[in-house]
Amino acid sequence: MKKIGIIGAGISGLFVANLFKENPNYQVTIFEKKHSIELEEGYGIQLSTNSIKLLNKIGFNEIEKRKKFNPEKIDFYDIKNQKKISDLNISEYNSEDCKYTTMKRSILVEFLKNRLDDQAIKYEHSIEKIEKKNDQINLTFNNNQNFICDHLIISDGIFSKGKSLISNNQIQPTYNNCIAIRGKIPSVNLSNLNEMNISLFVGPDFHYVIYPIDNSAGEFNFIGVLKHQLTANELKNYSLFEEKAFIEGIKNKSQNKISSSILSNINNIKCFPVFVSKDFHKSVENIHLVGDAFFAFPPSFAQGASQSIEGASELFESIIRSKTDYYINRVSRVKMINNRSKLNQFAFHASNPIIVFFRNMGLKILTKNKKFLENYLGKIYNN
Ligand SMILES: Cc1cc2nc3c(=O)[nH]c(=O)nc-3n(C[C@H](O)[C@H](O)[C@H](O)COP(=O)(O)OP(=O)(O)OC[C@H]3O[C@@H](n4cnc5c(N)ncnc54)[C@H](O)[C@@H]3O)c2cc1C
Repeated sequence: MKKIGIIGAGISGLFVANLFKENPNYQVTIFEKKHSIELEEGYGIQLSTNSIKLLNKIGFNEIEKRKKFNPEKIDFYDIKNQKKISDLNISEYNSEDCKYTTMKRSILVEFLKNRLDDQAIKYEHSIEKIEKKNDQINLTFNNNQNFICDHLIISDGIFSKGKSLISNNQIQPTYNNCIAIRGKIPSVNLSNLNEMNISLFVGPDFHYVIYPIDNSAGEFNFIGVLKHQLTANELKNYSLFEEKAFIEGIKNKSQNKISSSILSNINNIKCFPVFVSKDFHKSVENIHLVGDAFFAFPPSFAQGASQSIEGASELFESIIRSKTDYYINRVSRVKMINNRSKLNQFAFHASNPIIVFFRNMGLKILTKNKKFLENYLGKIYNN
């Protein structure tokens, strides 16, 4: 029996562990640096059909319907005049049991975690050393414990320590000049929005998205991405983003970009800087990266979690079939999605009136153009 060591119990690590769990030739152990899995109550996640199809293979469709939501469309609004620009029918890519889904992130993580044996996750294990010895890999953790495995899967997120260790700190994420603002908003404060859809507001140097997270329609997820420069010192001081004064400053900066009925009613606001990847680290034989550790995108295509799931599935197939094409295939897919994410962010944040004019005209035309949509979204959602 081959031993699989996984570093990090996020969506990618948990999903790949779930896939190996079904295969008697492998034994998986996940090492997580925290003392438990964070189940941040409430915040939402969007999952497109490409990842729902893979999640269904491990029983995702059995999660109670009331805990998920299937939006029909994305409604685009212009922040400047609050008017609707156009809508895009995302349910076009749905099939009977595979639908674009929005939900609480905690429900997905809990589902992935609960399917694993309790002993499969070792908490309070932060990776410190990775040594390759012939065909095996020796892992050393902060508590001086060791583990020897045949395959190592590094899934410890955007600031991957595992990646730093194997690349000698050569590949670091960069600040995307944006602050993410996250919160929840009661539906009573959402006048004039279609609550069956995802509402996406685009405007100068800012975009925000509001969507339902379950079928009760009581509370909606708010996620905003605001252009914001930070100094090197501010970036190093992570506690800054939790300070009340910083959050108030960001709210003030957003004041003329979000309607006051929404801004003043967002609960549990959290702010954090958005980091993205600029480069890849090539996998070597039996050491692999997946999820944000492999590559993190700007959050303007809502593909981070879906790609974590897709990548995990590709990696699983490649290991069980003793193939070596995981890295090359993943890089080409990631490049395609990263280009679309960057283009979306550019269009969503446009401030020049001429570009805004063409952006709005483009949105009206392209959201109804089947050929364009098939190429831009279909290639991703129908994977
Ligand atoms: C603002 C914003 C909004 C987003 N919205 C969406 C969305 O709507 N839809 C979507 O698909 N994606 C979204 N994403 C992206 C998505 O959340 C991520 O791409 C995804 O969660 C990555 O999962 P992961 O498992 O690779 O990493 P993570 O979720 O970061 O998990 C990494 C795990 O590794 C552990 N770890 C870290 N260091 C160590 C160590 N040294 N040793 C051991 N364990 C360690 C961590 O504690 C953590 O549990 C969003 C991202 C942002 C920034």
